[in-house]
Amino acid sequence: MAKQKFKTEVDQLLNLLIHSLYSHPEIFLRELISNSSDALDKLKYLTLTDEKFKDLKFDPQIDIEIDETNHKTLTLRDNGIGMNKEDLVDSLGTIARSGTKNFLSSLSGDAKKDSNLIGQFGVGFYSIFMVADSVEVITKKAGEDQAWSWSSDGKNGFTIAEAERDGQGTTVILQLNDQGRELDSQWEVKNITKKYSNHIAFPIFLHYEKTEWEGEGDDRTSKQVPTTEQINSASALWRRNKSDISDEEYTEFYKSVSDAWDEPLMTVHTKAEGTMEYTTLLFVPKTAPMDMYQADYKPGVKLYVKRVFITDDDKELMPTYLRFVKGVIDSEDLPLNVSRELLQKNKVLANIKTASTKKMLAEFKKLSEEKEKYDEFIAQYNRPLKEGLYSDFANKEALMELVRFKSTTEEGWVSLAEYKERMKEDQKAIYYIAGEKEEQLRKSPLLEAYEKKGIEVLVMADEIDEIVIPMAGPYQEIELKAINKSNAADDLKDEEDEKKEKAVEPVVKKIKKALGDAVKDVKASSRLHESPCCIVADEDDPSAQMRQMMAAMGQAGNLPEVQPILEINPDHEMVKKLADTKDKQVIEDVSWVLLGQAMLLEGHELKDPSDFAKRMNRLVGGAL
Ligand code: ADP
Repeated sequence: MAKQKFKTEVDQLLNLLIHSLYSHPEIFLRELISNSSDALDKLKYLTLTDEKFKDLKFDPQIDIEIDETNHKTLTLRDNGIGMNKEDLVDSLGTIARSGTKNFLSSLSGDAKKDSNLIGQFGVGFYSIFMVADSVEVITKKAGEDQAWSWSSDGKNGFTIAEAERDGQGTTVILQLNDQGRELDSQWEVKNITKKYSNHIAFPIFLHYEKTEWEGEGDDRTSKQVPTTEQINSASALWRRNKSDISDEEYTEFYKSVSDAWDEPLMTVHTKAEGTMEYTTLLFVPKTAPMDMYQADYKPGVKLYVKRVFITDDDKELMPTYLRFVKGVIDSEDLPLNVSRELLQKNKVLANIKTASTKKMLAEFKKLSEEKEKYDEFIAQYNRPLKEGLYSDFANKEALMELVRFKSTTEEGWVSLAEYKERMKEDQKAIYYIAGEKEEQLRKSPLLEAYEKKGIEVLVMADEIDEIVIPMAGPYQEIELKAINKSNAADDLKDEEDEKKEKAVEPVVKKIKKALGDAVKDVKASSRLHESPCCIVADEDDPSAQMRQMMAAMGQAGNLPEVQPILEINPDHEMVKKLADTKDKQVIEDVSWVLLGQAMLLEGHELKDPSDFAKRMNRLVGGAL
């Protein structure tokens, strides 16, 4: 049979895989075991839900055969769902379905630290080529008659041929390379399995030859006795009591459900008894899953009913914003044959989801008492939590306590609660400035008056802030106010300011006349200190940053063109002098230069830079 080509840049990928994972070749076994475990899960599910498979009797198990004499092969066998020809081409012929490009680019950077990406990108099977020169897969799909053999050396495509196999399931035969030979021993296989796959739900049997001694002294002889031994505990870890589970066991289990390499940032193990009976064992990874911002992210929570796997592909088990949570939910109340389609409307599940969400948020709150750990958490998950502010109305209060922001007066992250603590006695609102770049925001003239009065302003440079925060509404009845909106500064005004504003009215009129339609309004402002002017958006207009964001998303056309409001500083030299001048040209030039610089400071482009330069030069020329 002719060779078929792999569908993706396998060569390149393999090279990277082999080199980046060089230090952990043993993970191939975890990957194969987890594939088998999935295949067993799938078949078990069918026997419970599909008439066609109701009478199929099978004891789900995984078998590993080693070759301790010659160290040539390692065989792994399961009696799971198996694959037909199409499955083989689709699953083993295509790698990295969720994005080879992403995978390649992320690996080539700091390759080593990304070794936990392997599973996430669905290239798990290919890790075998770290330890094997070639592989043969013999498999028969449950309910079908024809078995198939798939072979490949991982480089030059693969061949598929008809084959024989007793019963459904999959056998993977590895022709080991030097690296693999070292792992082809009962000790290695036992250790690796214990380490990575101890708690998968099915028994794993190791078949090897045990050396047995007979006789005494010189008459002593040995013989090789074929031996079978179960090498994992095959207990669903989550069913055990918390107090009986060690940190190592939790970590090992976490690795088996998450493809992670390190320990979890957080482990939450809950047993609910009473009206609803269920167990959840949920983890928060130390680093956010790579696909967290992809629409087709892989859900991290598996659903079991009475220890029987139901699905790992249901995005509804957790709210979307908690998509970084990994683990299992095991319900005692759902019917075993619940169909995946009906799950979504299921009341029991909805209740579990609600309770689990509350529980996770409460755990995050607890974590927030440990500053360092929480900073680590926030660095990864601040943004999804903010998504929750607009998607999870029921938990908004809790989420408001969890999100963090940068601030003009404090280092690092601050909470709204801390901000509230520090508020001035007569301070009316929580102030924030939102935009694209933190550095630019920190230099904004809009901050001057707040700084002068010692009022803290939150600096929001996450693009999601501008959408979420205005909708998140008051925090404990205190309004959140964007300081780049026109009326935000009214709070800061005192009598003195009002007097000054009145005095500068003629100048305001002059500028307004000079700028015409280019601005929505010109106002005297009490918020400026050193700068002569700034621009702000009208209360209900989309802010400049919002416009830029929409433009970046190709949505600019959906926003009406709005003009900024120019605010001027009554105390500034330029403004004062403008009051005295009658020269029309000078008034016009100064007005346009004021507007131009305010635009530039907020990160905008000028509509007519050459006009700006001309006016500036004329003013400088006059002054010299
Ligand atoms: P992933 O497991 O992340 O999807 P893999 O490369 O490990 O990626 O496997 C690709 C696919 O091949 C699996 O999703 C599954 O459909 C199929 N497969 C692999 N091993 C087996 C097996 N032992 N039995 C049945 N199907 C399997």
